[in-house]
Order: sequence, then structure tokens, then C-alpha cells
Amino acid sequence: MTIFNLGSINADLFYRVPHLPGPGETLAATAFSRGLGGKGANMSVAAARAAARCVHVGAVGADGRWAVERLTEYGVDTRHIVTLDEATGHAIIAVDEGGENAIILHPGANRALSETHLAAALAEARDGDTFLFQNETNMQREGAERASARGMRVAYAAAPFDAAAVQSVLPLLDLLVLNAVEAAQLQAATGLAPEALPVRDVVVTLGAEGCRWHNTDSGESRDFPAPKVEPVDTTGAGDTFTGYLLAGLDRGMPMPQAISQAIRAAAIMVTRQGTADVIPDLKDVQDLSL
Ligand code: ADP
Repeated sequence: MTIFNLGSINADLFYRVPHLPGPGETLAATAFSRGLGGKGANMSVAAARAAARCVHVGAVGADGRWAVERLTEYGVDTRHIVTLDEATGHAIIAVDEGGENAIILHPGANRALSETHLAAALAEARDGDTFLFQNETNMQREGAERASARGMRVAYAAAPFDAAAVQSVLPLLDLLVLNAVEAAQLQAATGLAPEALPVRDVVVTLGAEGCRWHNTDSGESRDFPAPKVEPVDTTGAGDTFTGYLLAGLDRGMPMPQAISQAIRAAAIMVTRQGTADVIPDLKDVQDLSL
């Protein structure tokens, strides 16, 4: 089966600076690096590394060819990534000597997707394929409606959190993935605890604690502890978790087995510095002896 991931593609531009610049200040960076990021791209790479067939539905600007090439190298199907007359989404990340950061995020092409583009991509989908999306693009509701009408599994990682966006797609979802903060925000907005949401499967990730799965068919909730590791950089842990989870489900794994694999992949991810470029592959996950 195939995962169609409607998702953001960002250039993460890291600048090492002696201190975070103040108003009116011009400051020379002491080091620079560029990485592939964006929640969507991270999840596509994770799904591909987990051996799923993943079609990324997204957009870059003319300055984003390298990001598309990198996604292709990582095994993602990039035929439905279009090039628009916009800047590629990017994050300008200044990091000072103490590790404190300041970030400017520009969504650019990620928020300029058209319904025609989305429809062309989803026209390839078949019954039982997965539609995955997050909150860093436009066209989420349109995508979820089309996917649901085509009999796809509709999965949403509700980040960055936006209560109205979540509420508008809730009735269309088969699976919702939230972190603990997002689950609390959703409960504040709807009055509903995760186990009371009208979604068949809700997975709440709990950082070093692992995650909790709520299944409304059985009415059961189950905890999955995370392996104990020394965290170095937790960026992309949630995206790795979600990509692996969906790849497992897409391959027909029962939820507990897909969660166990996702939790192991995310634990490895927190021991690595970086985002999409360092997401572990299936062999790393199988070799993890914890
Ligand atoms: P997000 O990164 O989206 O905020 P979490 O912090 O809940 O989400 O992390 C997502 C998943 O990554 C967790 O469910 C867990 O499996 C894994 N994870 C995060 N932090 C750690 C950690 N310190 N040790 C082991 N696993 C972790």
C-alpha cells in the first residue's frame, strides 16, 4: 500500500552566533549549516526509512530543488512535489553559545498548494492507502475529505497545534497523533479528553515516558514505555514516531506492534543531532538492543 503525505518541506538554516542579536544589531555568524526539515518532509523520510512507499504531496520554490533531490535520495516519491513562484519554506535558526535559540519561520510555498495539485496526487490513491497530514501546509481539510471519500486511512499529526484546524477535520479521522501539550490544548478547546474524542485511534506521545494509545472500538487505553536513552536533540522525534507508526500500519502491523517500532525509532532519533537527514532506518531500529 502507499502513504500519501500532504506535508511541509523546509530548509532549516542554522547560524551559530556569539549571542542572539538585539534590535538594530548586525551580527556575523561563526558557523552555518543547512538541513532538510519541516514536519511533512521529516515524516515522509521516516516512512520511507521504515520501508513504506511514501508519496510526498507538497511544494517548494525554485530555490528548493536540493530539498526535493534529497527526499528522492532518501526513497520518497517526489513526483507530486511542485515548484511554485514562492520561497521554499524555511526556518532561520540562530543558536548562541549557551544553546539558546531564536527562530524565524517562513511557510512560503508550503501554504500555497492548490486543490488541483492535491486532486491530481490523490487520484492515484486506492482503497486502503493512507493519507497523512500535519498543520504546516494549506489544503488539510480538502485533503482529508477527498481521502475519506476514497476509502483511505486518514491520519493527522496535529502539529503545530491549532484548535480550529483540528476540530474541522475530527469527524474525518481514523488516527490522531498528538503530543501531551497538544492533547491538553485540544481538551481545553473541546472539553474532551483524548479517550473521548470521536476518532477510532488516538495516540498521545509523552516524550521520555513513551506514549498512550486510546482505541474507541474496544474502549481500551494502553501505555507503551519508551526505551531509556541519553537525549542529545529531541527535534524530529515526534515526526519520526509518526512516520514509523504509519509505515507499520500501512504494512498491516497491528497497532501495538507498529507503536513498538515507532517508539524504538524515535528513541534512536533523540540520540542524534539534526532532523530529516539523520532519521534512523529500519535496520538501525531492528538492531537497537534496549
Ligand atoms: P514531540 O517531539 O512531537 O513534542 P514527544 O516529545 O512526545 O513529541 O516525543 C515523541 C516520541 O519520541 C515519544 O513518544 C517517544 O517515543 C520519543 N521520545 C521523545 N523523547 C524521548 C526520550 N527522552 N527518550 C526516549 N524516547 C523519547
